[in-house]
Amino acid sequence: MEMAVSRRTFLGTTAAAGFGGLVRLESQPIPQARSVFRHGVASGDPLADAVILWTRVTAPANATPEVTWEVASDATFKNPVLRGRTVTGALRDFTIKIDASGLRPATTYYYRFEALGERSPVGRTKTLPVGGAERVRLAVASCSNFPYGYFNAYARIAARADLDAVLHLGDYIYEYENGRYGDGKPYGRVSDPDREIIALSDYRTRHAQYKSDPDLQEAHRQHPWIVVWDDHEVANDTWRDGAENHQPDRGDGGWAARRDAAVQAYFEWMPIREDRATRQPRIYRTFNFGGLADLIMLDTRVIDRDQQPLRRADASVLDDERRSPLGSTQEQWLFRELAESKRAGARWQLLGQQIMFAPLSLPGAASESADTWEAYRPSRQRVMNAISTLRLPNVVVLTGDVHSSWGYDIAADPWNAYDPGTGRGSLAIEIVTPAITSPTGFGTPTETATRVEKHKKERPHLRYIDGVHRGYVVLDVTPERVQADWYYVPTVSEKTTAEQFGKGLISVAGRPHLVETNKPA
Ligand code: FE
Ligand code: CA
Repeated sequence: MEMAVSRRTFLGTTAAAGFGGLVRLESQPIPQARSVFRHGVASGDPLADAVILWTRVTAPANATPEVTWEVASDATFKNPVLRGRTVTGALRDFTIKIDASGLRPATTYYYRFEALGERSPVGRTKTLPVGGAERVRLAVASCSNFPYGYFNAYARIAARADLDAVLHLGDYIYEYENGRYGDGKPYGRVSDPDREIIALSDYRTRHAQYKSDPDLQEAHRQHPWIVVWDDHEVANDTWRDGAENHQPDRGDGGWAARRDAAVQAYFEWMPIREDRATRQPRIYRTFNFGGLADLIMLDTRVIDRDQQPLRRADASVLDDERRSPLGSTQEQWLFRELAESKRAGARWQLLGQQIMFAPLSLPGAASESADTWEAYRPSRQRVMNAISTLRLPNVVVLTGDVHSSWGYDIAADPWNAYDPGTGRGSLAIEIVTPAITSPTGFGTPTETATRVEKHKKERPHLRYIDGVHRGYVVLDVTPERVQADWYYVPTVSEKTTAEQFGKGLISVAGRPHLVETNKPA
């Protein structure tokens, strides 16, 4: 134990250095498989004065280990800020979640835990600014399927010194047995447990497997995360009362029990602030980045989504006013948050959500997707109406879920009332981040090229598309403009530190219109 501690020395400091004023923590040995802290440390849901600190203690099943936690303004803990003590146990799967409060805004902090005579790795985190913020930079990620290969993109996110936070838009885990969607055998990444997860113990084991990944651990250790679930944190194509991948009559049991198990394990294992008062699976919430941007996080899946329509559903379903991916309570909340953001004078409104928003189906054609906003047209229209009624010219929709990269101008009618040259008719923009590992599903290189060309030709509002790569997006926000930079990794089949800048898109404040750039922000 002593040796493990003395090996861990750090160069990290809070001194401003380079872009964003952040210095990465020096790399350190990943905790051994027998370490008390083998699932790493994490932080999340930063506010101006508080942040969630997370870890998990591996201990005997009947133990109730005492855990101390510390926050300091330096990586060597010479300047302690907070210190506390708590107890964990089997009831919450030996996870620890601390809401460390009383912190200063826009400040980098370091944290660590101690339990059972061992000290955890040191994590780094950062609080949100309160006012006058000139720049916010986020990494945006989604769809990290463990058996599909290595989390090279997470390693690149971990290595960046320029991020304020990591935004994960869901499919953080996948629920399948090995081989159903990705075969981990060639990589030693066979799904654990090797069956479709249904019970609470299954979801806990699956989360533990993902958190055993060294690249994911490092990305958590270096940056605070802001997360929402998509469908696979529960089951494929989740909606309020079920999922495509949930058959009650074929051994999956009741939906509510499965959903509750998935939600409980998620709250235990993810560095997200919980509403303990209601115990509701409510994760829609807003983060204020010091007047520069409000990040409004949505749940289009679990809390109140109406069921996806059947394939080739007719207009009576697709245009049913009552259907929504958010449910009416969350929709009304969203409109209030947008109005409040306008009143408070925030420059940008970022919607952190899961499913593709921009109109996809060609006029008069059958709906292209039953699982995106496309299948809930009146609800999507209400969101667009709110944006235009409130005269919010700087709304950015952030999307995951589809394992490919897209940049859209969001126009109410892109085929008849939109000018791709100037962006006239565009209400907002949409940035779709690719998967960390999940496949794009675009097919062979030839098929991919054909499909990409067809999409571009048919959709004037489609400003960028890539159907080949895995990676992530860096969203760089200033008062003058927002820039989305796509970074791609060459492979997930072997470990690599290589990445390439794929494309940047800029939208100038006041004019929601994406324009390509070949220079990263
Ligand atoms: Fe996915
Ligand atoms: Ca998904």
